[in-house]
Amino acid sequence: MIQNYQDLTRLEMEAIDKENTLVLLPLGAIEQHGNQAPLGTDAIIAKAMCETIQTEMEKTNPDFPMLVFPVLPVGLSTEHKDFCGSITLKPMTYYHVLYDICESLAHHGFKKVVLLVCHGGNTPVAQLISREIRSDFGLCPFVLSAGAFDDPSVQATISEGNDFDFHGGEMETSMVMAVDENLVKLETSEKGIQKNQTLQLHAGWLASDWVTEQGKPIGIGGDPKGASAEKGKLILKISAQQIIEQLLKIHHAKL
Ligand SMILES: [Zn+2]
Repeated sequence: MIQNYQDLTRLEMEAIDKENTLVLLPLGAIEQHGNQAPLGTDAIIAKAMCETIQTEMEKTNPDFPMLVFPVLPVGLSTEHKDFCGSITLKPMTYYHVLYDICESLAHHGFKKVVLLVCHGGNTPVAQLISREIRSDFGLCPFVLSAGAFDDPSVQATISEGNDFDFHGGEMETSMVMAVDENLVKLETSEKGIQKNQTLQLHAGWLASDWVTEQGKPIGIGGDPKGASAEKGKLILKISAQQIIEQLLKIHHAKL
């Protein structure tokens, strides 16, 4: 059974089988997502993704043992900090936040934690701590990406001509609309294109590298104007199904 970590009482938590129960830790962010999508886009998607995972898992594996930790609403968003409203932890602050949560989980006897990365900027730190935590406490962290953005069925939702959909683009905006259409101001959206070759050169890119066709920094990749709640629901469902496949493997893994 999937339950919310924070909903359990102490006695209920004492009764949890820590050896076999996964803890899913969704890693959000609060950062600009263009004109049209809210600052909490990644945290909103993270929560919706966890709910979709629970719904889909209950259909096939109703006894799956997992606790869903509350979404961490702030992450590592250095690349967005020059846009109004973005909040970032510093890399080592974020490292310590994740490390300390995992240390507490290990202290209570959990053996496996799944870091569900819902903002790509969080990935390097999640990967960095995963070895440290396993080595220090014997708690094995797994790092999963939340969005199945490369899946052909997800790619098929992208409007024709929107050939660089990325941060704050059509896919992410659609997923927020699936949660609450009122959170998206689609009429204010502008298309983001790449100003330079930072990604291809493996350079440290900043969100200001994405500009409108007129050259104004817009901080998003792609064109959100074709976003819809219907597309968002499909992307959430496909992504959740891919994550479930991984969760089943993680649950059965002997480490
Ligand atoms: Zn995002």
